Amino acid sequence: MIITDTHTHLYSEAFNEDRADMMQRALDLGVKRFFVPAIDSTYTAAMLALESDFPEHVHLMAGLHPTSVKENYKEELAHVTAQLAARKFCAVGEIGIDLYWDTSTLNIQKDAFKYQIKLAKQYHLPIVIHCRDAFDEIFEVLETEKDDQLFGIFHCFTGTLEQAKRALSFNMKLGIGGVVTFKNGKIDQFINQIDLKHIVLETDSPYLAPKPYRGKRNESAYVVKILERLAELYDCPVETIAEITTQNSKDIFKI
Ligand SMILES: [Zn+2]
Repeated sequence: MIITDTHTHLYSEAFNEDRADMMQRALDLGVKRFFVPAIDSTYTAAMLALESDFPEHVHLMAGLHPTSVKENYKEELAHVTAQLAARKFCAVGEIGIDLYWDTSTLNIQKDAFKYQIKLAKQYHLPIVIHCRDAFDEIFEVLETEKDDQLFGIFHCFTGTLEQAKRALSFNMKLGIGGVVTFKNGKIDQFINQIDLKHIVLETDSPYLAPKPYRGKRNESAYVVKILERLAELYDCPVETIAEITTQNSKDIFKI
């Protein structure tokens, strides 16, 4: 059984003390494929170091996270552009709109989001979307960018069934993480109405740890808890969910 974590910040400072052990715990459980989203240029060196330590398992994205869209965002976007021109990445991400932390940057967040969608299309790459308190704004941008080149993952999906269907209409898969294990997470109530072919697994480590680790540091090994919860919700063997979601990740990332 091969399990795929489609969204994990393995280069985070949170793992500086025990990164090799943390990776081994995941590998021992069958988590062999790690897709690693970018945040901004301050993390690039750490991401490259991670990749050279685990070249078989780690796949890097390039992108500017919406909460890092500040006054200098044009310079940051130039960095993303240069990275994509220089070598292969598996996706453009994570990109999107976050109105939880800062609403004053909405216009430049939208600008950065659109710019990076166009970059993804240029390189035939998927996008990995970060959406927080911003479904309407994200859908508005996707509506203007919708075509057969647009595809990717709606990371950490926590919306309603209607929003899930809308996300699928833009050729997105739903990244399901720790929230599906929460009592008040809501998506557990309808997720089994979404065909498994639209679902990928993720941890968003070191954030959003699933039950029974909620509130603690998250790590990729815990993706197994998400897998187990989905097996209950879909009334389907764990192995089947692992196989389908890993295949979905291959379809998206072409890796
Ligand atoms: Zn993330």
